[in-house]
Amino acid sequence: MAVGVTVLGSGSKGNATLIHTENSGVLIDNGFSRKELLKRLADNGISQEVIKAIVITHEHGDHVKGVRVLADHLDIPTYCTTDTLRYLKAKNNIGKKQVLFDPGSSFTIEEFVIEPFSVPHDAVQPVAFVIKTGDIKVGVATDLGQVGKLALQRLYDCDLLCLESNYDIDMLKKADRPISLKRRIMGRHGHLDNADALESLEFLLTAKTKHLIMAHVSSDCNEYELVESLTSQKLAEINRSDINMQVARQHSSLEPIWID
Ligand SMILES: [Zn+2]
Ligand SMILES: [Zn+2]
Repeated sequence: MAVGVTVLGSGSKGNATLIHTENSGVLIDNGFSRKELLKRLADNGISQEVIKAIVITHEHGDHVKGVRVLADHLDIPTYCTTDTLRYLKAKNNIGKKQVLFDPGSSFTIEEFVIEPFSVPHDAVQPVAFVIKTGDIKVGVATDLGQVGKLALQRLYDCDLLCLESNYDIDMLKKADRPISLKRRIMGRHGHLDNADALESLEFLLTAKTKHLIMAHVSSDCNEYELVESLTSQKLAEINRSDINMQVARQHSSLEPIWID
């Protein structure tokens, strides 16, 4: 069975990625309004009935802003960790149907096996996901301060890897931002910079890997073109220019990528 990966949008103003077949799918996060999310789905020829559940990485607004409204509109469950649920409940930002998961335990939604794992990020209980269907393995990891041992282990050997490449260190240093915010972003519980993301590719990509998406690119401390050229260079260096590499955008979705 072919599995599609559709990054509906990525960046500090909203994130949502659909892992799907023709008939069913799991939405990772929704930082967009219901209207915007449904528009982006329709633009890609995907019916809203395909979404069977939303799984949440962490409680930051760019990942959960549109979760409650979309989940209740589609009458589907939202899966999140205990601490994340507590936070979202307090903010009245969670749909009626809720399912808890443990960061260390896998669970199944339709034909998808979801394997969450903890990542270092300044949120209450942040996770990233590996999603498997049959032999197909998809890894989605944004919002992590570093690619630690656990992430290296879990994200290894994916058919498709979607990895954060948040900021360029020099652009961040020069940016007109408070020093405390810069420290937070650069810290080990912040975001992944271009250099760290690229370095981790040397360890994560295998012969199985056919697709690579660089995601959550900062709008003022990075550039899509820079991420694209640095990643192309890196792939050439490690003799993997055969990999289909794309950079996820904030204001538009990427076309569905089908893996079989
Ligand atoms: Zn984020
Ligand atoms: Zn975050």
